[in-house]
Amino acid sequence: MYTAAKDGRRTVDELAAALSVPRHHLAKVVQRLQRLGLLATARGRGGGVELEPGARRVGVGTVVRRLEADDEVVQCDDPPCPLRGQCQLRSAFRRAHDAFLRSLDEVSLADLVADDAGPVLLSIGWSSGDTGAR
Ligand code: SF4
Repeated sequence: MYTAAKDGRRTVDELAAALSVPRHHLAKVVQRLQRLGLLATARGRGGGVELEPGARRVGVGTVVRRLEADDEVVQCDDPPCPLRGQCQLRSAFRRAHDAFLRSLDEVSLADLVADDAGPVLLSIGWSSGDTGAR
């Protein structure tokens, strides 16, 4: 959300400070989101992290699917549940999960930072020493 709120690159150090997140943790998150095609990174002077072009149009449901991979709501196979063959709960969870993600598909990353949300997001911890002019 933070990278969607404003154009331009931010270094991992800047993002970690702004979001009050440990740098090593944020670096892992950035790496993962880069692999998922949501963030772009550039090295060297002027380098940093920014939202991939087009990622603002990506739905939140898509982001959650990419992050979750094929995880199911319930784990029925390890160890194998004896009810798997007849269980109605498992399919009900799948339908509920699908409906949940379809609902999130209706909201894009751009929607999350629209109107007043973007400025509020950018004000979180970012005011100290940063002019936002990068
Ligand atoms: S009861 Fe159904 S949902 Fe629960 S673990 Fe067993 S198969 Fe899965």
